[in-house]
Amino acid sequence: MLLLNDHLKARFGCKVYKIALNGNFTCPNRDGTLGTGGCIFCSAGGSGEFASDPALSVSDQIEEGKALLKDKIGDRECKYIAYFQAYTGTYAPIGRLKALYTEAVEHPDIVALSIATRPDCLSDEVLELLSRINDIKPVWVELGLQTIHERTADYIRRGYGLNVYDEAVKKLSDRGIEVITHVILGLPGESLSDMTETVKYVCNSPVSGIKLQLLHVLKGTDLAREYEEGRVRVLSEDEYIDILKECVKIIPERIVIHRLTGDGDKKLLIAPLWSADKKHVRNRIQKEVLNYGDGK
Ligand code: SF4
Repeated sequence: MLLLNDHLKARFGCKVYKIALNGNFTCPNRDGTLGTGGCIFCSAGGSGEFASDPALSVSDQIEEGKALLKDKIGDRECKYIAYFQAYTGTYAPIGRLKALYTEAVEHPDIVALSIATRPDCLSDEVLELLSRINDIKPVWVELGLQTIHERTADYIRRGYGLNVYDEAVKKLSDRGIEVITHVILGLPGESLSDMTETVKYVCNSPVSGIKLQLLHVLKGTDLAREYEEGRVRVLSEDEYIDILKECVKIIPERIVIHRLTGDGDKKLLIAPLWSADKKHVRNRIQKEVLNYGDGK
């Protein structure tokens, strides 16, 4: 299995950190184009709680991100990935996208640009722009698929069909742009086989990476209301570890595993509360999932 840190070290020759940026985007699932409520689990910050202040320029956001990492890094050599994380990172006029992306990749410490977006927000002109930026520095597009199952996709109000995801992955990979697909584990109503089917499907598509995230119930979301009304449940820690074990068995070596946990904001987290102890969860994943099958 290939984990992100190892992949980045081998690819860029040093430790590489992601800096979460905020391009002040919105999302068609929130601005009324497709809907106003957003995906059922999405927080008011558009899944970008750790992203920087959008009032700052991209360069200033990068410097701020570097400063926040300074204590952790010390004197070690390292590089950074500019990550447009909040909301839909390709959903803005093309001139603005060009300015934001260009400023990010022109920063000397940035080795790649990563953009979180929706597969239905990749027009031909956006794809063309991403191709041009990809000629300067690697561009990764992170797609929030979450599930391949249409009934769950309807329930979470994802707002696009699986065919839209398939087309987007094809168009991006045909252009040499790397795709990282986000999958949520523990979505209401999904069985273990539903989740492993999603992971299998993603691994059979031309993606370069996968992010597995635990479903978090966050304050202010419609999912929180359903949870508080007792209509949905969340995974226990043991269940999550067992699901992860099955999922990582499916992921081939060529696909980089970007994440095996959730990364929700503790201040917003309602459930599952065990996931707030990130160190403990990481240790269990390290011991029980990553060494799984090695006899360690
Ligand atoms: S597409 Fe992303 S930003 Fe938009 S509502 Fe869904 S999770 Fe939030």
